Amino acid sequence: MFDRKHTCVVVVGAQWGDEGKGKLVDVLAERADLVIRYQGGANAGHTVVVGDRQFVLHQIPSGILHGQATCVVGNGVVLDPETFFAELDQLAAQGIDIGGRLFVSDRAHLVLPYHKLLDQASEKQQQIGTTGRGIGPTYEDKIGRRGVRVADLIRDAGARDALAPRIARANQMLELMGAAERADLDQHVELAGRLGARLRPLATDTGLMAWQAIRGGRRVLLEGAQGAMLDVDHGTYPFVTSSTTTAGGAAVGAGIGPTEIDGVLGVVKAYTTRVGNGPLPTEAAGELEGRLRQLGGEFGATTGRPRRCGWFDAPVVRYSVRVNGLTGLAVTKLDVLDTFAEIPVAVGYRLDGEVCHGMPSDVDALERVEPVYETLPGWERSTSGARTLADLPPAARAYLDRLQDLAEAPIRYVSVGTRRDQIIEV
Ligand code: GDP
Repeated sequence: MFDRKHTCVVVVGAQWGDEGKGKLVDVLAERADLVIRYQGGANAGHTVVVGDRQFVLHQIPSGILHGQATCVVGNGVVLDPETFFAELDQLAAQGIDIGGRLFVSDRAHLVLPYHKLLDQASEKQQQIGTTGRGIGPTYEDKIGRRGVRVADLIRDAGARDALAPRIARANQMLELMGAAERADLDQHVELAGRLGARLRPLATDTGLMAWQAIRGGRRVLLEGAQGAMLDVDHGTYPFVTSSTTTAGGAAVGAGIGPTEIDGVLGVVKAYTTRVGNGPLPTEAAGELEGRLRQLGGEFGATTGRPRRCGWFDAPVVRYSVRVNGLTGLAVTKLDVLDTFAEIPVAVGYRLDGEVCHGMPSDVDALERVEPVYETLPGWERSTSGARTLADLPPAARAYLDRLQDLAEAPIRYVSVGTRRDQIIEV
């Protein structure tokens, strides 16, 4: 994706998340100078395999695994300081040198323990299928103009005064929701004191850093979390996350203008998965779903929850191409389909007997759509050793060609395994 004309590139999930963005970012970060996470929080988990070591990153950009890349947690992220530093310590224990390579936007909002209590209480009522990590309530506070930002935490004085009314409000909400737990002010003040001091040297105006990098001709990678169908505006509302996961959010969440972005890579699995509740039109039935889940290792990186699995859904990816302005696709996990004799692909939907154009905005309608399937022949051979398109069995190439035609965007990468080298650049 990077060349002389393309120096600022966004990587987004183009389905329901867990598409393997971490691996693509890891591959692209090798050529990047600056890697910026721009939305989401500790509810996202990227799994990156380097040699025989596996790293699960929730808040720190996957680019940290490359020695040359400077990494940034952008203003659009909601940062959980406790888990952020736990992750940092874990990386240091695994021998990753972070010194001077990691920065946090002083405009990023903080996820505090009271947000987690609110999240868990609200999940009991609403059942969106959230991870209960406080992300939604933190974004609510941000939009409600009562959030706590990194800049607030790193100021020496005033944490108790700033926190007291917020804790009082959170406790009123918890009472209203019928929750037994209450947030504790002293615990929050202690956390602010302890982690504020650690955050201080990392906190800066990261939008300015991005601007200077772009102006200096350096390569900037903007790393998204979750996927387009979980976008708060364009996803399967209300079964969505609380942030803008689509590419437009990259500019806002990194603190740059949209005109700086030169390319948008959408990561898609060769099939489809989703975690949590809400519609999934191509969900596979019974034994086939179990087989996809087992072969694909489809269990959440953050929660261990089994993912719901189904077939490639072209209407979803076509929609994603449109709402993200995707300039290319990266198809991951092609190898997971290696043993299937036949592979269904949804080429369109029917809704109440009629052909459905576009993506229904109403989740009830999306629950009712009937996918129109085309069945493609499987290749029944391993693809995990392929490093060029020519190494792939003809049926696998035909499968990819069909996905590309249906999605109406060019495939730029194909991933055929978890390892860094198991990638085909098209
Ligand atoms: P992300 O949040 O989009 O980065 O996705 P996750 O990390 O939650 O899930 C992707 C999982 O798929 C990780 O365990 C990766 O190691 C794995 N993975 C990525 N690409 C491939 C691939 O091409 N083949 C296989 N078999 N696994 C892959």
